[in-house]
Amino acid sequence: RTVYVNGEYLPEDQAKVSVFDRGFLFADGVYEVTSVLDGKLIDFAGHAKRLQRSMDELDMKAAIDMDDLLGIHRELVVRNDLSEGLIYLQVTRGAADRDFLYPAEDTPPTIVLFTQAKPGLAANPMAKTGMKIVTVPDRRWGRRDIKTVQLLYPSMGKMAAKAQGADDAWMVEDGAVTEGTSNNAYIVKDGVIVTRHLGEEILHGITRKAVLALAREAQMKVEERAFTLEEALQADEAFITSASSFVMPVVSIDGETVGTGKPGKIVGRLREIYLEEMRKAAV
Ligand code: PMP
Repeated sequence: RTVYVNGEYLPEDQAKVSVFDRGFLFADGVYEVTSVLDGKLIDFAGHAKRLQRSMDELDMKAAIDMDDLLGIHRELVVRNDLSEGLIYLQVTRGAADRDFLYPAEDTPPTIVLFTQAKPGLAANPMAKTGMKIVTVPDRRWGRRDIKTVQLLYPSMGKMAAKAQGADDAWMVEDGAVTEGTSNNAYIVKDGVIVTRHLGEEILHGITRKAVLALAREAQMKVEERAFTLEEALQADEAFITSASSFVMPVVSIDGETVGTGKPGKIVGRLREIYLEEMRKAAV
């Protein structure tokens, strides 16, 4: 693979980052994952905007030109002959002697991008079978709206899911579902799509935003509010959204069947609409 690091395109085994990088020492970094279909970027503008927001919330002052960033994404698609897959982008506050205080504002940020080929990303068979979910308490920090690289707790959640023979975990706080380890969570009851409202408790998913807009355009009913685990267990359908899974049905939660135990109609329709519209708008 050819990867990008601080202005250079390099073979992956020649790309290096300092041991003093604050991303490594303090998880002082933010990231984005953009999917690629037919060699084109899905909702790049949304990801670029959220990257800037994450940086602003953390007082990361590095100036990143979003047009340059688009150029780097495209260059990596070409150099890696990427037709279907993901592009990972990480920006950290850079390398500086270890200190809790941030380094000088002119410290150059570390910018890394790499591709992950995922043939069959859009044709994922899980869209037909659905996912099994377990729940874990949400023990992450309080600014989940900032897309930082501190992913250890979600990683633990995924391991807990795997240990129980499930595909992923939903996190629960005060009885309500916040979100999945790396996706936003939804239920459908009596034709109404319910997903947690935006706030500091969840990541403001780029896919979530697009899916809700498309659902409303298609005259589906949407409620943005917290829902409880009990509601989820009584729901007709459940699903998740993320840049890498798009829209994916959930068929069981903590071993209990959701609805009929098969992917629901509304989630199926949403996945179709989402993929169709986003492919059209890809850049
Ligand atoms: N929530 C969390 C915690 C995530 O990590 C992600 C994916 N990075 C999402 C939601 C989904 O966001 P997006 O649709 O922008 O991929």
